[in-house]
Amino acid sequence: MSEKRLVMLGPPGAGKGTQAQWLCDALDIPHLATGDMLRGAVANNTEVGQQVRPFMEQGRLVPDDVVVNVVVEAIDEAKKTTPNGYVLDGFPRTMRQADALQKVLAKRKEKIDKVILINTPDEVVQERLMQRRSCPDPLCGAVYNVKSKPARTAGICDNCAKTLIVRDDDRPETIRVRQQPNRRFTVR
Ligand code: AMP
Repeated sequence: MSEKRLVMLGPPGAGKGTQAQWLCDALDIPHLATGDMLRGAVANNTEVGQQVRPFMEQGRLVPDDVVVNVVVEAIDEAKKTTPNGYVLDGFPRTMRQADALQKVLAKRKEKIDKVILINTPDEVVQERLMQRRSCPDPLCGAVYNVKSKPARTAGICDNCAKTLIVRDDDRPETIRVRQQPNRRFTVR
């Protein structure tokens, strides 16, 4: 099969993760979600985790150079086991990240094949984020919605039985920060 390098764009809560996972299953390629990687780093208290924790807790974007390094490492790691591409979910989120990705790929004579934008109205996103419940275990990372996709036992992860949480960045005050227009990916 030819390589497929895809990018999923959209506001937080648009459904990027769900659609990305479907694509990954269908194309048999890994799902590289920066939010999951960064949460994993925070949960494991790595050096990167310590650096990004304050940004994530406040719903702010982590610095471009940090996230670019994390993504490039993840791409290299994924390539070792599944060389036929990937879906990037949650990256790039700024023009600097997009430029950095393009430069890294150009050096390797590679390119992104498709960019999929999921544009969802603010009201829908707000409601979804408030209804979202997440498994705190970074190795599981299952995501539920109290209305549309509840866990079999309320508050307990179906996969690993951990107690589900409301992510710090899914609280109403943080959602407002995440939705600010200057946090949106804008194309020049
Ligand atoms: P997500 O799960 O994609 O909504 O990401 C959760 C949090 O991780 C975001 O609110 C940011 O703090 C951080 N994050 C994820 N991806 C990026 C990125 N590409 N650039 C900067 N921060 C990011």
